[in-house]
Amino acid sequence: MKVIVIGAGPAGITCAYELCKAGVEVKVFEASGAVGGLARSISLWNQTVDIGPHRFFSSDARVNRLWLEVVGQDYRMVDRLTRIYYRKRFFSYPLQPVNALINMGPVEAARSLLSYAREKISPQAPRDGATDTFEFWVVNRFGRRLFELFFKTYSEKLWGIGCDELDADFAAQRIKKFSLGEAIKSAFKLGNGKHKTLVDQFAYPLQGTGMVYERMAEYVRQRGGQVHLNCPVRRVRNTERKIEGIELENGDAIDADFVVSTMPLTLLAGRLGGVPESVQAAIDSLSYRNTILVYLLVDSPSLFPDQWLYIHAADLQVGRVTNFRNWAPSLYGNESNSILALEYWANAGDPLWKETEENLIALAEREMRSTGLLGQAAVTAGQVYRIPRCYPVYKRGYKEKLQVVVDYLHPFERLIPIGRYGAFKYNNQDHSILMGILAAENIVENRQNDLWSINTDYEAYQETAVITETGLVIGGG
Ligand SMILES: Cc1cc2nc3c(=O)[nH]c(=O)nc-3n(C[C@H](O)[C@H](O)[C@H](O)COP(=O)(O)OP(=O)(O)OC[C@H]3O[C@@H](n4cnc5c(N)ncnc54)[C@H](O)[C@@H]3O)c2cc1C
Repeated sequence: MKVIVIGAGPAGITCAYELCKAGVEVKVFEASGAVGGLARSISLWNQTVDIGPHRFFSSDARVNRLWLEVVGQDYRMVDRLTRIYYRKRFFSYPLQPVNALINMGPVEAARSLLSYAREKISPQAPRDGATDTFEFWVVNRFGRRLFELFFKTYSEKLWGIGCDELDADFAAQRIKKFSLGEAIKSAFKLGNGKHKTLVDQFAYPLQGTGMVYERMAEYVRQRGGQVHLNCPVRRVRNTERKIEGIELENGDAIDADFVVSTMPLTLLAGRLGGVPESVQAAIDSLSYRNTILVYLLVDSPSLFPDQWLYIHAADLQVGRVTNFRNWAPSLYGNESNSILALEYWANAGDPLWKETEENLIALAEREMRSTGLLGQAAVTAGQVYRIPRCYPVYKRGYKEKLQVVVDYLHPFERLIPIGRYGAFKYNNQDHSILMGILAAENIVENRQNDLWSINTDYEAYQETAVITETGLVIGGG
């Protein structure tokens, strides 16, 4: 059995790793010059950094077992500190009611609580009656005032559309069951010093997030598999929906029995040949949001203590700032300066996306200075990375369009689309790793795992476990 995997991000390389373990002949074709995809680590100014913040967390025993199998002892537990920067103040995130109310001041705090109470007593129906929006979901759980303060600006920066145009799936997947009521309950439990959601720790690989995927690729190579870098795949070859293999951008054709694809779903489906008009229309209506990452080298070892900050201030374009000084000392070694990564989001046609590197670095420095977080420290270098198709946009109605594409792909039996843009799912690493594991199971053991349901119905675990300082703890999470 010959399997081709398109893309060496977490989903693709996990699948290849699992297939190699089972003795299957695997060839991975990766478009870029590195493995790890969005979760790769890069060397910059004599330090190691990730593509923005990459906290690994899963409560799925399967994912955690695999992660530990690869990482071994080479990780450390990081005490999470992440806050929201808003009106020159810092609010704990996840939101802690006491901290938020003190920071807001008595008037704003009273307004927020009243607005929450009003929502609980008599929920406001949305103007157009649509209850499947991000806005409705959040207002319902936090009240309108807190929605406006802590969710609206950031979400609109990220997605580039109004919160009333954004599907509630985004909130349901990311904010989960959290609500102001839950937060208040947690605050009381924290008073007893017991509740662990607010004492958040995560496991971080000593050589950066990408270390996990580099090790997986190394294992694949050692077991006789192939990992080809700088080899973009153009299309999946098929005759009447029977998979034959792939065609690379350079025209080379490679045969396979199965193709596991993590390339953008829209490109995969659109290039299968003979796509019906209705399917093409659905494909065209699915869109992605791009990210611009501006890295700044700042001449100071201690700027602020957070691993990352959410920037809710509406007068700043930046959405999130990562401080790599606060992850693991092994990332910076003997260097005495800090690397920050500022995230900007844009659509392909936006002026910001086309802005010169020089202007983007100047913008990032200017915005960082305006927060006061740089103090007197000098910015000594800057570097820009542009990442297209970073976020699948959960615009209202996307599910119906996605379903059209999924239905179209269904008869292509030996074609398995997985991953973040690969399956058009707003995946974290754990979701993509799980997709990789389950895709390999489907091939090797002829299982019928429903890969489309991961990260839609991700609560359905058989066994839970979390990684701690001493390894895996079953039943945690
Ligand atoms: C700024 C940022 C912060 C994040 N923070 C976190 C976090 O804190 N925690 C967390 O768990 N996750 C985080 N994530 C998400 C995480 O990076 C992704 O979930 C994960 O990388 C998805 O893996 P994937 O393999 O599905 O896709 P990707 O990582 O996108 O990998 C896909 C791979 O396919 C390759 N490819 C694409 N097209 C082709 C082609 N035609 N031919 C060959 N190869 C191709 C790409 O080059 C890429 O290497 C973050 C992501 C971003 C952008």
